[in-house]
Parts: sequence; C-alpha cells; structure tokens
Amino acid sequence: MFHLSFAPCCRSIALASILIAGMAAVPAFCQTSAPAAATAAPELKVFDPALVDKTVDPCENFYRYSCNGWFKRNPLPADQTSYGRFTELFELNRLHLKQILEESAAPSATRTASQQKIGDEYASCMDTATVNKLGIAPLKPELDRIAALQTAAELPALLAHLHSIGVNVFFDMGANQDFADSSSVISFYNAGGLGLPERDYYTRTDAKSVEQRQLYVEHVRKMFVLAGEPEAQAKKDAETVLALETNLAKASLTITEQRDPQNLNHPTDVASFSKELTHFSLADYAAAAHAPGAGKMNETEPKFFAEFNTLAAATPLDEVRTYLRWHLLHAYSTTSMPEAFEQETWNFYAHTLNGAEKQQERWKRCTSRVDREMGEALGQVYVARYFPPAEKQQALDMTLAIEQTMDKDVDSLDWMSADTKVKAKEKLHTVMNKIGYPDKWRDYSTLQIVRGDALGNQMRAHEFERARDLAKIGKPVDKGEWQMTPPTVNAYYDPQMNNVNFPAGYFQPPFFSDKEDDAANYGDMGSTVGHELTHGFDDEGRQYDKDGNLKNWWTKDDELKFTDRADCMVKQYDAIEAVPGVHLNGKLTLGENLADLGGLWLAWLAWEDKAQAAHVDLTAKTDGYTPEQRFWIAYAQQWCTQTRPERLRTQAQTDPHAPDEYRTNTVLQDLPEFGRSFSCKKTAAMVSPKPCRVW
Ligand SMILES: [Zn+2]
Repeated sequence: MFHLSFAPCCRSIALASILIAGMAAVPAFCQTSAPAAATAAPELKVFDPALVDKTVDPCENFYRYSCNGWFKRNPLPADQTSYGRFTELFELNRLHLKQILEESAAPSATRTASQQKIGDEYASCMDTATVNKLGIAPLKPELDRIAALQTAAELPALLAHLHSIGVNVFFDMGANQDFADSSSVISFYNAGGLGLPERDYYTRTDAKSVEQRQLYVEHVRKMFVLAGEPEAQAKKDAETVLALETNLAKASLTITEQRDPQNLNHPTDVASFSKELTHFSLADYAAAAHAPGAGKMNETEPKFFAEFNTLAAATPLDEVRTYLRWHLLHAYSTTSMPEAFEQETWNFYAHTLNGAEKQQERWKRCTSRVDREMGEALGQVYVARYFPPAEKQQALDMTLAIEQTMDKDVDSLDWMSADTKVKAKEKLHTVMNKIGYPDKWRDYSTLQIVRGDALGNQMRAHEFERARDLAKIGKPVDKGEWQMTPPTVNAYYDPQMNNVNFPAGYFQPPFFSDKEDDAANYGDMGSTVGHELTHGFDDEGRQYDKDGNLKNWWTKDDELKFTDRADCMVKQYDAIEAVPGVHLNGKLTLGENLADLGGLWLAWLAWEDKAQAAHVDLTAKTDGYTPEQRFWIAYAQQWCTQTRPERLRTQAQTDPHAPDEYRTNTVLQDLPEFGRSFSCKKTAAMVSPKPCRVW
C-alpha cells in the first residue's frame, strides 16, 4: 500500500502498496458508482475485441486503440468522478453485497449473530427518516464534551477519546510493526489533523489552490452554520480552522517524502517522547487511550510533533475547541447525520475537489459503509456465494507461476551483482501468498449494533476498530490479518509482512476468467500479480529485507545502479502534463510505475513460458488478433477509465498511481516486445527510443 493519507477522502492503507487508489475503504462520497441499470449490462470479458477501435493506430495510441469502444459504451455518469473497469466490477460486487445486506436486514429468527449485525447496521443507515428526525442530537454529548474543555491539561484525555471514535484531530496513534524488527508490534505516533487531502493543499500558491482553500473555508463555515452557529461566528471559526491546519500542514512531510520509510523511522520510547511533549501530557493521553505508557514506539514525524507541542501551548482554547468541533462534524457527516450535512460534505469533497455532479444513491453509500465497518462479516457471506475453491486454486497457481518467472528473471539481470541476487531471491522465496479471504474471520461479537441508531453504530464501530488495533501492541504479529475486505476489487503488497494479498472480489471478469485463455488472463490479472510482487523490490519495498525489517541488503554499487535506472522513470513521468499546468510527480509515482513495468514484464515472460509449454501457435489469430496481441490488449483494457478533469487534478497531486492512460501507454512504450507484436516502426509514438527498465 502506500503511506498516503488521502484525508479525508481517500485514506489508504499505511505502509503497503495497493494496485489502485480510491477504491478501498473510501468514504461513500468519493466512491464512484455504476450507470443507472436502465440497460442490461454487457458481459464482462478480460479480452474484448468489441472494445477495440480499429480507426486508431495501435502504434500511435494503444490506450485509445484498446479502449475507445469501451468509452463509447460507458459515458461518465453524473454521480461518478471517474469510471473504469475497476468501477464496473466494484459496482457488480456492490450489487451482490446489497442483496446480502437486504436479506440480512429482514427480521428473522434464523439470522446468525453476524447477519443480525450487518443487517441492522444496513437498515439503520438506510433509515433516513430516523436520521433526519434525530438531527444533530446524537452528536450532542460529543459536542458538549468538546465545549467542556476548559484547561490545556484536559486536552490529552479529550484527544484520546476523539481518536477512539474516529475523529482525525492533531495526530494519529496506532499499532504498527517496528521498522527495525517486523516481529514486534509497537505504537506509532503519526502526523494528522488535516481536512484537505494532503499538506500541499495548504501551501501551494497557484490560483486554483488558493481558490480551493477559499472554498474549503466556505465549506467549514457552512457546516458550522448547519450545526447551529450564528453566521458571523461560523465565518470566524472557519478561518481559525484553516489557520490551525495550515500550521500542522507546514510541519508535516510531503506525500513524496512519506514514501521513503527512512523518513518515517524515528524509534524512541514513550518516556523520551513524553519529555519532548512539554506542553502535552503523553501519560494522560496514553492512559485515556488505553495505549502503552512505556516501552518502544516510533515517532514518525518529529518535526510535526515539535510543532504540535508548540501549538498545544500557544493556541487559545476556544480555537482548539473550534478545530475539534469541525473535525467531529466532519467525521460523522455522511450517512449518520441529516442529509443537509451529507449534501454539504459531498459538495466540497466530491463535487468541488473531484468534479462529481450527482450524489450517489443511498444504498450504495450504506453498502460501502457496512463493508468498511464489518467487512469480514459481510465478506464471509460474499465469499461463500461468489468465490468457489476452484477459483482460489487458479489464483494461487498463477501467483506461483509468476513467482517462478521472477526467480529466473533475477538471474538474468545484467546490472545486479551475484551477492545482491542471492538476497533478492531469498526475499522472493519468502513472500507469503494470500488469496481471497482470511483463514480466520474477524470476531465482531463485542461490537454492539443497535437498529435505528446510525450515528451510535458508527461511533461504536470506530471504538471497536480502535480497540482491536491497539490490542495488537506487544503481541505476536498476525500474518494472517488482511487490510482489505474480501469483496474489494484491488490488491496490495505489504513490505513489513512481505506478503501479497489478492481479495476474492478481484478474481472475476473483466480481470480474470476461467472461460478465457492464458493470453488474456496473464495480460490482465498476471500483470497485477507481477505488479504486487515487484512492489517488494521498488524504491520503497527494496529497503526491507525478507523478514520485513528495514535493513539494507544491497551492495553500494547495485544500489547506485538501481537508483540510476529508477531515475530514468522519474524523469519520464515528471515530463507528463496530466491536466494543464499540473505535471505528474515522478518521485511520488515511482514505486507504482516500477511495479507496473516490472509486473507486466513478469506476466509476459510467464505467459511466454506457458504458451511454449502448451505449444500455442503464436501465428494463429482469434477474433483477428495473435495471442501476443491479445495479451497486450487485455493488459490495456483493464485500464479503460473515464475521469473528470477535477479528479484528474486531484489524482496528479495526491495519488502515487499515474492516471490509467499512462499506466497503459507509458509502460508499453518501455517494452520493445509490445512494439514487435504490432510491427510498430521505431519512430512510432508507442516505441520509446530509450526505454527505461529496472526489473
Ligand atoms: Zn501498486
């Protein structure tokens, strides 16, 4: 995954490398959704010749060549900020989840405890009449608690409580594996507390960014007014929020700096850290949070906590209360509060920042909510219905085949020394493959869900998750834990676990199909398996050893050669202007770009081996294409995506993944094998004169 916090819209998994951003664990207002079900959905295929646009020269723009047919069939719906093949499957899965939830919501004496919880939570979320009738009253005890803050000495306990109910104020604390010793789980104190997507939104000086900040203040003002504040007070309070968050942002690392784990590795112990925080009692915070009051910990961003310490002393308490109040309102503004709050939140985060034109239907938001809160209870039913054991075996077979290919490919690298190759292969052989769903399902029995209490349920779900997370500190690492729910259409590599994780929801058309041949499946899903494996060896992953410790296993010379080759890709992506005036960030996207290129290369090699073993006739055409051509088209067609310009801007500024057009064309330009399959001239746009290559 990645270290980004797309707060508050797209918070991603810390320290792991996902395939795509914005699809998993994303609040409903930044999710996308399927077009209205007015027409019957066409059959989803991994390789679909009907989507190819033969009027485009494949050697000039392969993305357009492979996807134009899909674009024509799939105009971007009003409630979408981006809509692609991942969303296509995501929406199909969401329909399946809806059916499970509706069944579970129907009162019945035969419901299991799990069905009762997910069903009642879904019903509570769908019950807008009750949510609207209750108004802001369910949040009143929390607002009162903030209003009661009278001395700075009371702040630590208040922050501990707000953190436990999912309110992102000032900083964030949670369990994580020690960078130096991945077998040990310690507390991590992280920078946090922002309402805009990431720190540079507070510092950029271009006209668009200035405008976005003004609209953010306007949004915060409106939320305060909805909560009952007089206009003039709300305006002043919104300015206070921006000023305080700007101070936090300026002391935070950039998202590019956060990509280097060394920048986040500041081991200390709770006693030393508490001496740094001269204006904030860490002992009080830890006691109230039920977190360790002693022992090893990591302070990921010392500069940030120095600023926090200063702010804890210098900020007037009424300003602190204002800031806390805003984040409380924000945290509960979707599906738990009256529709006016939700509409206002959607308006800023989905419409202004990402270009959506219409709010998603309620059932979609509620289905995603239950998936976030109790994803393994919901996922257990999903897997039983939609992920047969044979599919799990096929997925595992493909993963093993690509791992064997990578083993051979490491041997063939001409730039890496024998010593580093031994270490690379050791690491590869230690990768754990997790397919589909957890071996042991999460136990939600202590989570209380009350039908009709949407806001209370959300609060208790946060408390449950917080307690579950903190309980990991000091215990043996659970390598079987998943950071994505089973129906998720995504995948990730976790460098501290050294494992690859492929949720069940992903192994379906249009990404994988047992009705299609290896050329299609390896071009598509095979490239993803290769992508995740390559993350173990990208600019970030390569810094971890086979056991997941942040420990250098490279010779100096090999490290220089790696960096030199990687720089080729940094420059290549830096040169891409995604929207007028906004270039991609080559360093931010390096890990994903390395994984895309390396992953596709591995899939290609693995498929070639399989095709050879099966005596596939490489000249025989199916639907007018050779097997090689179908491999590349299947790769490209997974990325067919329509994106609004606002979303594209946000993506270019915050997402470690390049936009899908470049995940197709730029990657293929670096692979001469692609150009040969389509007999492209050396001067063609899709053939790079000096291709970059690392893995
Ligand atoms: Zn990735």
